[in-house]
Amino acid sequence: MEPIKETPLQTIRRQLIELLSAGTCGVRELSQELHQSEKEIYDHLEHIERSLKASGKRLVIEPSACLSCGFVFEHRTRPQPPGHCPQCKKTRIRRPRYAIR
Ligand SMILES: [Zn+2]
Repeated sequence: MEPIKETPLQTIRRQLIELLSAGTCGVRELSQELHQSEKEIYDHLEHIERSLKASGKRLVIEPSACLSCGFVFEHRTRPQPPGHCPQCKKTRIRRPRYAIR
């Protein structure tokens, strides 16, 4: 029997799950930690969110918020940060943070 080897993709996703299980992280930190582009991290997060459902855990998204007027982007289903605030149209947006619980 050959040992079961992880693909590089599986390794990244496993590490991402470990990091997010240990604490809340923003995409920039995850990107630096795992040496993946932020775009790749978002793709992994979407995949992980779907795959976690089977394990009874979930990806908790602390939503983005507008730093100018305090508007909170509660209802975004995709993990990408919003470009600007729908209320005041400014672009000083605190980016979402993620955890697995
Ligand atoms: Zn605003």
